[in-house]
Amino acid sequence: MVDGRNNIGNKIILYRQNKYVENPEKYKEAVKQYRCTPEGKLTTERMWRKRRANKANVVEQYTIDEWNKMKNDSGGICSMCNKNVGINKITLDHIYPISKAEPGRIYTITDIQPICGGCNSRKNNKLEE
Ligand SMILES: [Zn+2]
Repeated sequence: MVDGRNNIGNKIILYRQNKYVENPEKYKEAVKQYRCTPEGKLTTERMWRKRRANKANVVEQYTIDEWNKMKNDSGGICSMCNKNVGINKITLDHIYPISKAEPGRIYTITDIQPICGGCNSRKNNKLEE
């Protein structure tokens, strides 16, 4: 089930990369046609459902300025491992993962933290286990 889904995803990505560069107009037409097929409809729906589940279900009530201030205040030090990785390498982390959040959950500036890329991907891996 999971494998099948990934295969379809990979196929589409490959198709996109190859065909779009070749002929954008033809590619758009092909996508339109694909979306009309039963398989295409399913894939598109699944894609949207996934996107909705990850982001649109939650409410983010902080501004980019607040986040930038938090990032600057961190001085480039990761909140999780305390390593100094530099402000440019600090990433935004939702302390309570968005993928597990109930619909309508509100994220304010106190619900996010500045962490390094390493901690961020470790955290994601853990969630997927
Ligand atoms: Zn870290």
